[in-house]
Amino acid sequence: MAYPGGVTALDEVSLIIGEGELVAIVGPSGSGKSTLLNVMGTLDRPTHGTVEIVGHDIAAFSDRQLSALRGRWLGFVFQQFHLTDGLSAAENVATGLLYAGVSRRRRRPLAVEALGRVGLAHRVGHLPHQLSGGERQRVAIARALVNEPSLVLADEPTGALDTANGRAVLELLTRLNEEGTTIAIITHDRDIAAQLPRRVEILDGRIVADTLMRSDA
Ligand code: ADP
Repeated sequence: MAYPGGVTALDEVSLIIGEGELVAIVGPSGSGKSTLLNVMGTLDRPTHGTVEIVGHDIAAFSDRQLSALRGRWLGFVFQQFHLTDGLSAAENVATGLLYAGVSRRRRRPLAVEALGRVGLAHRVGHLPHQLSGGERQRVAIARALVNEPSLVLADEPTGALDTANGRAVLELLTRLNEEGTTIAIITHDRDIAAQLPRRVEILDGRIVADTLMRSDA
């Protein structure tokens, strides 16, 4: 993946994430993690190479088809939560269904159910500013999950949280994985990565270690 100006942000990266995995993609600032997340999440197209989501090579997809594919197969969690201020927790979660072809009537019950899965059944009507940082991130996780995506991509999901809330969010993601959700967590924090079953290390745009490959070898 090259950016205009000659920066090669990813080079010879080959990564397969299988169903049911919980993977850390770990590396220092500038190593290419965000670029990899954007490529895996079909937010950016690679300048070379291919990206497949659930067996679909995205190269032939129009931008509109890609946004439908994201709505159907992918969930995103960001460091800064990205909730909409004027919407309740349930309404924020329901936005995760907007591009998934779910009827308006079914969106709210699914959103409430997803909030229950992240332990926020008692907060469905709260607005983001009435919630703690840890609760906001759980709302964002519920929004990523509500459509039962094939892959959740979490970009530094604990980065804006204190230690206790960060630990709780990591425990939540681990439990959701045990319940069947495939999750990739992008992090610069080696302590977080160390707690996850598979670790992919990235440095200067290359994968320099992958614990899955090691255990297979
Ligand atoms: P990380 O997320 O690990 O901090 P990034 O993927 O953001 O790393 O960046 C990888 C490399 O690509 C860095 O050298 C960065 O400066 C460069 N880069 C990232 N985004 C752009 C962009 N839009 N244009 C040019 N260079 C970029």
